[in-house]
Formats: sequence, C-alpha cells, structure tokens
Amino acid sequence: MRSTSASSAPGLQGDLLGDAPETGQPEGDSAPASTDFPAKPQHRGPDRRVAVLLPLPLREAYDYRVPEGMELVPGDFVEVPLGPRRVIGVVWGSGAGALESGRLKAVVRRFDVPPMTEVGRRFVEWVAAYTMTPPGFVLRMAVSVPSALEPPKPMLAYLRKPDAEPPPGFKMTDPRKRILALLEDGPPRTPAELAEEAGCGVTVVRGLAEAGLLEPVMLQPTRLGRPDWRRPGPSLSPDQRAAADDLRKRVASGSYSTVLLDGVTGSGKTEVYYEAISAALEQGKQALVLLPEIALSAQWLDRFARRFGAPPAEWHSELTGAQRRDTWRAVSKGEVPVVVGARSALFLPYPDLGVIIVDEEHDSAYKQEEGAIYHARDMAVARAHLGGLPIALVSATPSLETKVNADSHRYARIELPARHGGAVLPDVELVDLRRDRPPARHWLAPSLRQALTDTLAGGEQAMLFLNRRGYAPLTLCRACGHRMQCPNCTAWLVEHRLARKLQCHHCGLQQPLPHACPECGEEGTMAACGPGVERIAEEVAELFPEARAAIMASDTLHGPRAIQEMVESIGRHELDIIIGTQVMAKGHHFPMLTLVGVVDADLGLNGGDLRAAERTYQLLHQVAGRAGRGERPGRVMLQTFMPEHPVMQALAAGDRDGFYQLEAEMRLEAGMPPFGRLAALIVSGEDPTLVERVAMALGRAAPRSETVHVLGPAPAPLALLRGRHRRRLLLKAPRSTQVQPLIAEWLDKVEIPPAIRVQIDVDPYSFL
Ligand code: ADP
Ligand code: ZN
Repeated sequence: MRSTSASSAPGLQGDLLGDAPETGQPEGDSAPASTDFPAKPQHRGPDRRVAVLLPLPLREAYDYRVPEGMELVPGDFVEVPLGPRRVIGVVWGSGAGALESGRLKAVVRRFDVPPMTEVGRRFVEWVAAYTMTPPGFVLRMAVSVPSALEPPKPMLAYLRKPDAEPPPGFKMTDPRKRILALLEDGPPRTPAELAEEAGCGVTVVRGLAEAGLLEPVMLQPTRLGRPDWRRPGPSLSPDQRAAADDLRKRVASGSYSTVLLDGVTGSGKTEVYYEAISAALEQGKQALVLLPEIALSAQWLDRFARRFGAPPAEWHSELTGAQRRDTWRAVSKGEVPVVVGARSALFLPYPDLGVIIVDEEHDSAYKQEEGAIYHARDMAVARAHLGGLPIALVSATPSLETKVNADSHRYARIELPARHGGAVLPDVELVDLRRDRPPARHWLAPSLRQALTDTLAGGEQAMLFLNRRGYAPLTLCRACGHRMQCPNCTAWLVEHRLARKLQCHHCGLQQPLPHACPECGEEGTMAACGPGVERIAEEVAELFPEARAAIMASDTLHGPRAIQEMVESIGRHELDIIIGTQVMAKGHHFPMLTLVGVVDADLGLNGGDLRAAERTYQLLHQVAGRAGRGERPGRVMLQTFMPEHPVMQALAAGDRDGFYQLEAEMRLEAGMPPFGRLAALIVSGEDPTLVERVAMALGRAAPRSETVHVLGPAPAPLALLRGRHRRRLLLKAPRSTQVQPLIAEWLDKVEIPPAIRVQIDVDPYSFL
C-alpha cells in the first residue's frame, strides 16, 4: 500500500504571518478545482481501488479495493479493515498503489453522510503540511465523533431512580457508588457516557439497571436552533454602519479576504460582526465564530440568542457525547447555520461556509499546544483562503502579527474608534510599589485601598485582578529554606488554602499541606510566599469586613454554569468586590464596575519570552476595559515595580499604537516574529541521558547557514514535565524561509529511538 494525495504536499508557501497563505489556489477563486479524482463515481471494471486516509498518526493513505456494487466518491466516509480491527476513514483519492488488487482488502461499507468536501480535505492536508503533523492525525480532529456517522437511533439513557433500594445481596462496590453519585445531579446519560465518566465498564451500569436502581429514559436528539437573519439588529452608529456594510459586502462577494476589525472594547465590534453573520445566513451559507474560551462565554450566547431569536450551535470540550454527535451530524448535513466554538470547531464538516469570525484574535488560547500543535487563528485564515470566503479577525488589541499584516495592507482593516453611547475609556493610573508600599505580608497599596474605600462608599463595584490561582505560589520552610516542589515537574507547588492542598498547576498533582517541613522536620515553619487570589480575598476581608466579596477563578467556579451565575450575580450588584484571574478579564460587561485594581501588573513580564510585553499589554488592556462600561466613568490602578516600563507607560497614556510601534521595532531589530520565523523542537523522554543524547545529536545535525540559526539544545524552562525530561532547540530563520522542508531534512538525519518524542512547534508561542 502506498500513499497517494495525502502525502503530496499542498502549496507550502504558507506565509501565514505574511501574505495570504498560499493555499495553492488563485486569489479570489472560490472553488478549487478538483485535482486527481473525478467527482462522479467511476473506476468500473475489475480493478477498482481507492486510497483511504485513516484518522491515525499515519503519514499516508492506504489503498483498498472497492467491492462490487459499491460506489464511492472522494470524501466519502467508509469503514475499512486495518489488521484485526475495523476503522473509519475517508476516501482520499484514487488508489495508485503497486499492490495487486487481488491482495487488497475491501472497503467494508460506506456511511450514509455527505462526503467530506474537497475544501475540507485540502484543509486537512494543508494543516498537516504546515504544522508537520501526519495527515491522519489532523484528520482525526475532523472525524472526532465517529458515532455521528451512524444514523441516529433513539438512545437509551439512565437517570437515578428516586428512593430505590438495592436488592438484598447487591454489593455497593466503589464503581457502582461512583455511577450513582454521578447521577445525583446532571442530565440522563448513556451507559457508555456513564462508564467513561465513572472510569469503569458498561457492565457496571447494566448491573445497576438490572438491580432496579436506574430509571431508563429515551434521549431525544439535541435541539439545535435556527437563528433568523431577518430579525433587525440595533440601529448602528455611522462608524458601525460603515464597518458592517464593509463586512456584508465581503460576505456577499463570496471570495477570500482577511480583515482586521480593530476597535476599542465596547465600541460595538460584536454588533458589527453579527451583521456579517446575518449576511452569510441570508445567502444560505454557514457562519463560524471562534471564541478563545467558549465554555466561559454564556453572556455571548445569550446575546446572540437575543439578536437572532435562537442560539447558535456550540462546539467545545464541555459538550456531552450526544451533543457532539448530533451537532457534528447536523453540521455535515448543512442544518446548522451558525457554529460558535473553540479552536476545534474549525474542523467541523461545513458544507458551505460563508464567513469566519475570530473574536479576541490575539488570545493565546488559540494556540493548541498538545497533539497537533497549531494556531487556530492562522489555520482559520488558511481555511478561509481554501474555501474562498472572508474572515474577520476581531480585537481591541490585535496580535502584532495581525497588526503588521494590516499595516502593510496584506489584510484589510476596519476601525471602530469610539465606545458605543459615548462611554469613556477608563483612566489608567500607575501605583509605584517602590513608594506606595503595602504593609508587610499584604499586597494592596495605600492608594488602592483608598480607591476601594471610595468606590464602596459611592455604592459602586470594584474588581481586583491577579492572574494567579490559589493562596500562595510558593511554600517554604522558614527554618531550613526548603521549598515545596513538584516531583514530576520543574515547578513550585501552589498552596490552595480553601482546598487545604498543595497543587502542581502543570501536572495536577495534589498533596496535603505539610505540618512539618519534609526536609528538616521542624514543625510549624512552613510559610506561604507571595499572593494568589485567595490571599487577596483574605486581605479584602480584613480591610472591608462588610463588603460582599468573591473569588472568580477557574478552580473556584466549576464549569460554564457557575461562571454564568457569578457573572449574573455581579450584574445584579450582589457583590461589591470581585477578586479574579483572567477568567474574569474576558468580555464581560458590568455597568456598575468602576474600579479595577491590578495587584501585580509586572507578573507576565517576568517570564521574558518573545511576546511577554505584548501579552501583558493585551491582558492588562482587556482587564482595564472591564471598568466604566456603563454610565459612570471607570478608574484603573496598576500596581507595578516598573512604572517606567514601556508597557506600563503605554497603558497609562492610552497609547496603544505607540506601544506596538516600539514593540515592532524591537522585533524587527532582533529578526523575531512577525519579521522572522521560529520553529521549536522539543525532545522529551523519561530517561534524561537518552533525551540529552538525542538532543545533542539534533544539535549537531541542525541546519545552519548565514541566515538560518539553531539555538540549543538547552534544558526547557520546564525541564521536567509530568515526569518527562525535556530539551529544546529553536530554529530561527528569515521570514522568506520555508522552515518545514528544512526541519524535515534535519529530522531525517537523526535516528530517534522509540522512547523519545520529538515535538515540532512551527511558530511557537510557548517557550516553556
Ligand atoms: P465590543 O465587542 O467592541 O466590546 P460590543 O458589541 O460588546 O462591543 O458593544 C458594547 C455594548 O454596547 C454592548 O452592550 C452592546 O449591546 C452595546 N451596543 C453597541 N453598539 C450598539 C448599538 N448600535 N445600539 C445599541 N447598543 C449597542
Ligand atoms: Zn507537576
């Protein structure tokens, strides 16, 4: 069996950070011509074979024989044998292998769902080639719900039967207890879902059902709404109108373009891109909206439903198995007009996508760091180009990559300069912690304390922002200096006082707080160092015992519903002071919130990676944007030890473009993205000597020239992660260089033992 089109490289000029990605298709041409395979079934006669790409980490499509009486077209979903197993796959092209057809295994069956589109298949190939991931591995993201290929059958699910007692002799084992506990609250679930959640076999669920402890119910298919584009939106301001008309025109043209929708927070960007969605629906096409953390965006969903009369289909990790199946299937049949999702929503089987919106396009949550390593914003641009459709990148603080592309007119730009309804942007003040010092073991400076007092006295709300969960980031022994470290990771254990635990934020390890130092055995000497949100909450309680305060962090709020409840309760002014991590920074709109205090504005600058300043600026700008969104003006106070730092200066002066200018000059000078290219290799394994040896061999074999440099190998900052030792190499090249062939050649020169993993990260965002 041999590869066919899966390994033929799609145009890899892929200059995502530069020109429109070269997706091997003339600009503006909306439907790429079918390549090597006719759209109508053919291949009659004795030797009918197809190449089938399997959703497994395979580089190549395999040939299969098409049995008598079966007709297949490219993109068809099929079941094929693979060794002793049967797996699903996608017909990728005509089989071209040398293997005699008599020896080929036959396709078992074709699934009755619309075939994967040509654009969808080329997108899989393109992402695979760009990110240097096996195409089958990328395909797996596109066929993530195999059960969606089967016709929906009424599904049996279970609820807990109220007051049912176990029959005599029925033993309440731990797995049985876990399942009953799971059913205490929450929706009915299928036996398979229950088994997976409880970490046991399906037979355990059946056993409980037979014992009469479960109530069977038939699950109805997930109801997906039909947003109505005819519903009128609000009347737009002249700026908003112009922006909306521009987007509508792009959608109507049905051709590729990338536009940056650049506007301050509260300027109505969301209202404006709703118009683009409406235009796509009007044409009978679909719209895809990517959000960085969809599970956190209940406010967004409510607002969408108010505007269009029905909610969009959601796509993210919090969906149940049944929701995923029904949504995938409905999307493939063109029954879902609007999908809002996290990055994986890019890989859904849209038959006719009309527009893509990437909201908060600068957000680093778009970078997937595990498995296939890709940047969803960049892949979305490629998807738009392949599909011949417009894409809007939306932000108040665009990524430097996008900003530079807009400045050089590779991307169009639409600006919304003012907040809607004349709300003014908040005043940003710097609190110089060198002078304005908090008392010992406290973290709020006198001026911020005063501002909190005034805000509460005025009957308004305040938010304190610290991007650090838990109570204290470090616990050490005052007697011997021993620091509590994770045994599996290069990281300190974080104290979570509410949960009475020490936790590793990288691998999830938890252990009780030690009473005595594990090193010297002294008792009562373990001390918390530095603040997390829990510690700030303690200080707030001490300063303002009357105030209603709450912590808003991903580990104190469980799931989207809890976040939504908290957001609503803040909106109803049931809280006076909110102490939050970045969960809090995103998109929420609180009219009574007038003071934002940033406890440690320098926090993000310490890592010192390439984008530290940019990211800090974006995050703090977004946090600041929470203040003064209603009628009352807002005030933002940034506590810093570096008031002269360009990030702080730019925030205080409201000089966003000045900051970008300076940042761009520094990157240009250093040949760093977006003006140069980076790719990282991360070598990892359990045996440190072997990891070191492979990393050194890669270092020796590295491509080097006048313009291409390889730094490392060096121990990764997270030199130990989840028990694996890690070394990094970083390739740096001019922007005009195609790094993928260089890396492919490089890796070919070095033997990689099976115990070692080498991850390739093209355009790295994390340097840990
Ligand atoms: P952004 O996405 O730029 O932060 P939004 O679209 O969320 O801005 O708008 C901010 C607030 O102003 C929202 O509550 C929105 O409903 C309101 N708003 C924006 N434009 C209009 C308009 N033309 N008419 C009425 N309300 C508007
Ligand atoms: Zn750890």
